[in-house]
Amino acid sequence: RAKSDVTRAVCYYDATMDEAARARRDLAAEMRTSLEEGHFALHYQVQTDFERGEIIGYEALLRWNHPTRGLIEPTEFVPLAEETGLILPLGEWVLRSACAEAARWDPRMSIAVNISAVQLGHIDLPRLVAEVLRDTGLAPARLELEITETAIIRNRSKALRAMEGIRALGVTVAIDDFGTGYSSLATLRTFPFDRIKLDRAFIRDLATDQQSLAIMRAVLALGRSLNIRVLAEGVETRDQLAVLQAEGCTQAQGFYFGYPSAPAQLAPAGAGPAASAAAPPAAAGGLN
Ligand code: C2E
Ligand code: MG
Ligand code: MG
Ligand code: MG
Repeated sequence: RAKSDVTRAVCYYDATMDEAARARRDLAAEMRTSLEEGHFALHYQVQTDFERGEIIGYEALLRWNHPTRGLIEPTEFVPLAEETGLILPLGEWVLRSACAEAARWDPRMSIAVNISAVQLGHIDLPRLVAEVLRDTGLAPARLELEITETAIIRNRSKALRAMEGIRALGVTVAIDDFGTGYSSLATLRTFPFDRIKLDRAFIRDLATDQQSLAIMRAVLALGRSLNIRVLAEGVETRDQLAVLQAEGCTQAQGFYFGYPSAPAQLAPAGAGPAASAAAPPAAAGGLN
């Protein structure tokens, strides 16, 4: 009987869907509880100007210390947080925590915070940023917001307004994962960026792959002609650094210089990361 087969098939399909949907709903609920109970944390990864041998600052990277599953990386929960809207309170928590943390550091150190497309599209970001700066006492020039090309393209007019408002506060804006989106050149021309973060996909094979090298050169040339600094993401080896150096890139971030770490690991209490920045083994080799 065809009908019952169809019914059974539909029920089976529904059951599978239910299960996936339930898992996601559970995860979303756990995220909400974790935010209330303080199970999210920020790790910080050093950004260096290797030409001058100096630390520029740190990027805040979100971590979820799940009560039973352990540490969960943002790529596994940020998309769900965006779909459910939880990224709004979570993103505000990130901004507040990162600014409060950086306010305790050496004042030469900047702090970079990732901003989601949903935050760009749904809240008055300049107002939130102004409020957080006021509450934490962080100097605006020390804050940089990282926005991906994709996020901007998804919210063009709102993104443009938000970015102008943010920059009017004296806060800088970086375009994250540059080269992985689709309207790179037009985006750069229209939107007021202070820095380009060249995606690590182009750094990975830099020493061996001619195409990666060509793209890196093109982005550096673009940065020079538009007067925007270029920071290379995901630098892991001395060879990659040597190529970047030879091509005139001066700023980088990656495991070669330091892994993202909890604030306590960045510096002895009170000293701020600048004091210990030269100390971690990876940075010692990378900075000289
Ligand atoms: P992203 O902003 O491009 O951050 C850089 C990512 O590359 C981080 O992954 C970092 O740990 C990793 N990384 C750094 N150096 C190296 C390297 O040398 N080699 C390799 N293979 N990887 C390196 P993470 O922490 O897992 O974050 C992944 C993405 O999640 C971030 O990419 C960002 O898009 C998003 N994210 C992280 N924190 C936040 C946040 O607070 N808010 C929002 N909206 N998104 C966040
Ligand atoms: Mg980033
Ligand atoms: Mg990136
Ligand atoms: Mg990324």
